[in-house]
Amino acid sequence: MDKKIAFIPGDGVGPEIIKQVVKVLEAVSKKYKIHFEYEELLIGGIAIDQTGEPLPKKTIEICKESDAVLLGAVGGWKWDNLPGDLRPEAGLLSIRKELGVFANLRPAILFPQLKSASFLREDILEGGIDVMIVRELIGGIYFGEKKRENIENGHKAWDTMVYSTYEIERIVRKAYEIARKRDNRLTLVDKANVLESSRLWREVTAKISQEYGGVRTSYMYVDNAAMQLIRNPKQFDVIVTGNMFGDILSDEASMLTGSLGMLPSASLGEDGPGIYEPIHGSAPDIAGQDKANPIGTIMSIAMMLRYSFDMADAAIDVEDAVSKVLDKGYRTLDIMQNGMTLVGTEKMGDVIADAIN
Ligand code: NAD
Repeated sequence: MDKKIAFIPGDGVGPEIIKQVVKVLEAVSKKYKIHFEYEELLIGGIAIDQTGEPLPKKTIEICKESDAVLLGAVGGWKWDNLPGDLRPEAGLLSIRKELGVFANLRPAILFPQLKSASFLREDILEGGIDVMIVRELIGGIYFGEKKRENIENGHKAWDTMVYSTYEIERIVRKAYEIARKRDNRLTLVDKANVLESSRLWREVTAKISQEYGGVRTSYMYVDNAAMQLIRNPKQFDVIVTGNMFGDILSDEASMLTGSLGMLPSASLGEDGPGIYEPIHGSAPDIAGQDKANPIGTIMSIAMMLRYSFDMADAAIDVEDAVSKVLDKGYRTLDIMQNGMTLVGTEKMGDVIADAIN
């Protein structure tokens, strides 16, 4: 069996963490007799430097022909003053849109070995944490009309949050399907007390909930959800929400698990290749220093094996390898604890790949 992976390291820590993934995929390749073919592509700041645009056409074309897309991260101080549509982040938003990946799955799972790296009290973590945030990815305020005008004494700027019924339906259905395979609980997070678009989310979700009788549906305002995630995260199983709320809540959820560097994500459409990437950014403050935690990216390939390649056993192998390595006490700086062995990005990649063999 052959699988073609579009390989996009991007900026900052992207290239360092993506390199670790190759080691792990090679170990999976040996064990499962599957051949992975990689094609390295440009996105973000490096693409701007080399081609003048954050998402070159070649990247789009090859991604569309691939079985899956593996992405590091984009962005950095060097490009921060470019106009919005020429910034590295524009490349990221465009590739998501080009591939039609409307559902962003962001699991926040606490490895028991990292309990003390979590920012929450031990009693709140009792019994573990396993929340799946399903974030709408290619609509809402990040894609709505945005404008700036000159006015007396300054500027006026606005962004618009727009959602239509079909965009809500497809993501809410996806979230219900996921809830069915988990603990059968779904919470819609919105701001329906203030926003008209949120009221549409509620109406659509209430209607679709009729089709999923076995799943318990609840509704929560985003401000309350931000608080409840810290106060009692176990009350959540699947959270479904819009683009901006999901962006913010999933970063918050990462702190339950100890570090932004631990968390993977999968972005899926109706068909076509999914995009797999860690949830963190390019971490320019630690780039090139062998300090980045590659586990979020490595856990992303577990999601790739499961959702795009239908290789659940291999996905479990990758997750188990991470768990074994944590059991042995290996820690990158962001999750370092007393008495553990501090390792860099490279070494962490090596020991996880070895654990698969
Ligand atoms: P960030 O996620 O890059 O970093 C936030 C903090 O977490 C930093 O202190 C960083 O050192 C740390 N961190 C992140 N990943 C880590 C890892 N793997 N191991 C250890 N520590 C890690 O967010 P930011 O600083 O707000 O943004 C930096 C740049 O990344 C910006 O240009 C931003 O636009 C971009 N960004 C890109 C993505 C993406 O590519 N998907 C997501 C978020 C931000």
